[in-house]
Amino acid sequence: MIAKKPSVEEKEITCIVCPTGCSIHVKRLEDGTLSIEGNQCKRGYDYAETEFIEPKRILATTIRIEMAKVPLVPVRTDEPVPKEKLDEILDFLANIKVKAPVNCGDVLVEHVLGLDANIIATRTLGVDTCDKIACEI
Ligand code: SF4
Repeated sequence: MIAKKPSVEEKEITCIVCPTGCSIHVKRLEDGTLSIEGNQCKRGYDYAETEFIEPKRILATTIRIEMAKVPLVPVRTDEPVPKEKLDEILDFLANIKVKAPVNCGDVLVEHVLGLDANIIATRTLGVDTCDKIACEI
């Protein structure tokens, strides 16, 4: 009879909380708890734990805007969102349009996809008052 090798969930994570960039080894033990080694501080421990259990990222992208001088306004989430939701959020944002004026920091989408995070503008864009005929003269 061949002994079944226990499946072990483990991951090598590079901490990005500070420039030291510690390499942290995270392993789920048989009792379900995590073994976290290689971090030099509590912040690194917390980062590695979150990154292992539910990695999150700040999403930065653009969405379409009407009545502004440019067609797109840069936006980002105001807090990290689950990495697995990034594509779904991008698809949602690709299908919406906002109207100028927009101020940097304005909430353009509240609780995107029901998450805690909001989508905020990262640039101020006023209404384009340029008369195109006049501009071409
Ligand atoms: S574990 Fe601590 S010291 Fe190491 S990179 Fe992360 S924050 Fe910096």
